[in-house]
Order: sequence, then structure tokens, then C-alpha cells
Amino acid sequence: MGQIFLKTDEEIETLRESCLLVGKTLAEVAKLIEPGISTEKLDSVAEEFIRDNNAVPGFKGLYGCPSTLLTSVNEAVVHGLPNKNPLKDGDIVSVDCGVLMNGFYGDSAFTFEVGEVTVEVKELLNATKQCLYLGIEAAIVGNRTGDIGFAVQNYAESQGYGVVRELVGHGLGRSLHEGPEVPNFGKAGKGKQLKKGMTIAIEPMINMGKKGVKQLSDGWTIVTIDGKPSAHFEHDIAIKNGKAEILSSFEEIEKVLNKK
Ligand code: MG
Ligand code: MG
Repeated sequence: MGQIFLKTDEEIETLRESCLLVGKTLAEVAKLIEPGISTEKLDSVAEEFIRDNNAVPGFKGLYGCPSTLLTSVNEAVVHGLPNKNPLKDGDIVSVDCGVLMNGFYGDSAFTFEVGEVTVEVKELLNATKQCLYLGIEAAIVGNRTGDIGFAVQNYAESQGYGVVRELVGHGLGRSLHEGPEVPNFGKAGKGKQLKKGMTIAIEPMINMGKKGVKQLSDGWTIVTIDGKPSAHFEHDIAIKNGKAEILSSFEEIEKVLNKK
């Protein structure tokens, strides 16, 4: 996946600005999510907001990505392309967003409820977010990427969920994808050692059913093979001697959701 670049404290501060802008963008998206809105509309609002903040969409144009957001509905895990289809009551939509500002990428994702979702779906979203925070807790100097993956997998599987293997977290900085790879599964004590100054995106993708996924013929959308829903939450963090520092934020998003 590429080289690992350790960042100085100053670089981490610049990176943090990009990560925070992603959270603010996702909060703008959160305001609009309701039955009837299309993911294409969410995409155009996100792009305008990012450009108004003197940044550029991080995904658009990268690897041929046509959009600012990747929007994955229900059984779509990640990499769904925005389209004109209206979201329906009871859907979930995972919204992944990247920005590039002052030379650094931010990359964060949140799975939203559309209208009223089932208890089972709510539990999946809560568990996936919990997986993310357990992964972050394991991300300390001296631990390895396998400790993060183990923390995520152990909790997800204890709840009866499937952990997607094919897509992984990653280092980020001046490139959207740097080393190391950060799988959401693994063995404690294995993998690349975590060092102070590493900045990584941790992004569990957790399936309500089995772990298997496939890509649709659009060449982008990854869906669960069993057709059951999947959730995705992603934070960017900086590795420190003690607890990792979360650079992105869900605070603005959660403010919007709490008002709904
Ligand atoms: Mg992402
Ligand atoms: Mg990512």
C-alpha cells in the first residue's frame, strides 16, 4: 500500500485541519439525510461545502473516482457511487468523504440512519462504532497493526457479525493511502509496529451477516454476498506514546443528529 511517513507535530496539526473539515462536511450531509433525498444531491452539497472552505474533494479524480462522496446504501459496504435514487425510510447510508487541503488528506466515514431503522440495524451501527473505538484504543506506540485488527474483529465476531477482509484502513497524509495497511482482523502482536508520528485511518466495515463481499459491475460498489446490511465508520488518528489522538471528529455530525 505504500511507504510509511512519520509526521512531525506541525504536520499533524495541518493534517488535523483536513480531518476536521471532513467531519464538518459530513455534518452538512447529515442535515439533509431523510427519505426522498438522493445521494447525488448529498454529493453536490458536500463538494460545494468543501470548495467553499478552500479545499478540494479528496476522492474525486483519484483512481478515476467520479464523486466527492462514496455513498453505500444497505447491503453496499463501501465505494457506492452517488446516484439519483431517493433514499427510503429504513435505509442506512454509509457516507465516506475525503478532502485535500494544504497538501494533506482527511478521510472519514459515518453510517447514517434514514428515517426509522430496525433495532437490528441500530445495533449493527452501534457495534461498528464500538469496533472503531476499540481499534483506536489498541493504536498505541509499541503495539502492532494486528492489535488493532484483533480488537475490531474480536468484538464484531462476539456480536455475531462478519468482518470484511478485502478492504482495510491505511496510513494517510500527503497521500490518501500510505502505509501501513490496517486490517480490521488479525492476530494480537502481529503486523507492522506502530510508531510515534504515524497517522492512520481506522475504518471497520462490519456486516450484519457473513463476511463475504463482491464488487458490482459498476466497478466500484462493494456489496455483501448475502445481501444483508453493512456499516462503516472511519476516523483518522495520530499515534502517540500514550492514547492515540483522534484527528477527525464526529462531534458536528452528532450535534446535527441529536437535533433531529
Ligand atoms: Mg474513507
Ligand atoms: Mg480510508
